Amino acid sequence: MRALVLAPHPDDEINVAGSTIIRLIRSGVEVFVAYSTNGDFNKAADVRADEAIRSLNVLGVDRDHIIWLGYGDTFNGTGRPHVFCAQAPTRSPAGHVETYAPHGFEPWRRSPYTRENFFADLQSLIVELRADMIFCVDFDFHADHRALSLMFDRVIASILRRDPSYRPEVFKRFAYSTAFTAPQDLHSRNLLSTVRPALGLEAYDFDLIDKFNYVWADRIRFPMPLDCREPSIDNPIARAVFVHRSQRIQRNALAIVNADEIFFERRTDSITFSARVTASSGDPSKACDFQMLNVRDINESPPTFADYCWTPTPDDPDRRLIFEWKAPQRVERIKIYGSLDGSIDKLRISLDNITSIDCRVERGGRPTVIDLPQPISILRAEFSIVDPIVEGGIGEIEMLPSKERADHVMPPFIKIIADDEFIYDYKIPSTIERIEIGICRFHFDGEINFDVDGGTITQRDGDRITLKLDAAEIKVRAVGDGVSDEIMIRRVSPIYFWRLRFKQMLERIYIHWLRKKF
Ligand SMILES: [Zn+2]
Repeated sequence: MRALVLAPHPDDEINVAGSTIIRLIRSGVEVFVAYSTNGDFNKAADVRADEAIRSLNVLGVDRDHIIWLGYGDTFNGTGRPHVFCAQAPTRSPAGHVETYAPHGFEPWRRSPYTRENFFADLQSLIVELRADMIFCVDFDFHADHRALSLMFDRVIASILRRDPSYRPEVFKRFAYSTAFTAPQDLHSRNLLSTVRPALGLEAYDFDLIDKFNYVWADRIRFPMPLDCREPSIDNPIARAVFVHRSQRIQRNALAIVNADEIFFERRTDSITFSARVTASSGDPSKACDFQMLNVRDINESPPTFADYCWTPTPDDPDRRLIFEWKAPQRVERIKIYGSLDGSIDKLRISLDNITSIDCRVERGGRPTVIDLPQPISILRAEFSIVDPIVEGGIGEIEMLPSKERADHVMPPFIKIIADDEFIYDYKIPSTIERIEIGICRFHFDGEINFDVDGGTITQRDGDRITLKLDAAEIKVRAVGDGVSDEIMIRRVSPIYFWRLRFKQMLERIYIHWLRKKF
């Protein structure tokens, strides 16, 4: 099994998939980390590479699993085009005009800095590695992050259309708002879970949560590996952050380390990718190009989202989009993503001219989800805008063979939670006598049994149980068919928390010292 982590800069490996890299490697997955840039904006590529090697060593990735696409760091603000838009070779701020690798490495390909080459290099990387799982940075304010995220979407779409036998599991992550710039909350009583990013246009990801695919309730939450569960900088993730000394980001370790690592899954098994798509007007490919959003200008902040929708022309009486297949395709769930600024009051979906469904496409790009009573096989699907007033159009249509992906390579798991927090070795004041716990499920919908040592289950409602705590240490085990989780609840005295606070204070002094020294 193989995983590919796509990071824009050295240090983003931690923001994109830090603890997940550790977890995957320990479960026997071969993990490759590819950097789109050499991080050579304000430091030499060799310095950044040396830090990346040592950071990845902490996470368990070997030097020979590091890949350099070799593009320049931070093209924006130089007056020259960003490589994402460069039709002709462009020069990076570090003075390079073609891809190169830091000392001791070879670049993935040797290519002049152009848009076409960026696309082709990323495409060949994904095709040749053929990873089962891909983790990629998502859209945020940094032009290099945007460039990799948007180019990745285009590359994936081209591969999915060309090769129906390759359907990797894709997880994207906001490197800033759910990692690097998240609340600096490491120094708490217990490790805290990732919080919903702050709202507002000033936010690093431009307030995308609960729009398009970014439904907060649908986020994928991965648990921490065994040695990453303490609210302390002894945590390997924090140690990996400290290695990036040239970036002076030590304090960000307090933000990055959480009790869960969250992603938004992008389904690659939509049958739209293998369809012939036509429209009565407009560009039909926009509705099945994997790209949910796009920007007018890669550097503009806040960005103007544009050019990501299928929009029929105003004089088109039909306003129709048609998907056709040569062989019957199974479909159970249809997801329609509109545009940020428009909605469609009435969209008619016709499947093989037999089933007809009318729906309203939500405003703000929020997904409209239609579940069929049972899966059906179809050769043709037609989407027509009945209500003639349309702004924006349709950003993306997913036609999925099943509600959840059936062929997940990421193993299912269950995780015990309290107050929606992922808990492991859970310290609470000794005065607490009762606690309510629940379960977070990942691709597991079977029965779960609880086994409690040192406490009594007084109430159970589905996955939620109320526990009476009878001892100082209570062991709770949740077991389902092939999945399990075990936690410890420790009722501790105030002295424990004073000691912890003191230790955490010393850690903050250490971070301060690190920042002064490097
Ligand atoms: Zn970055």
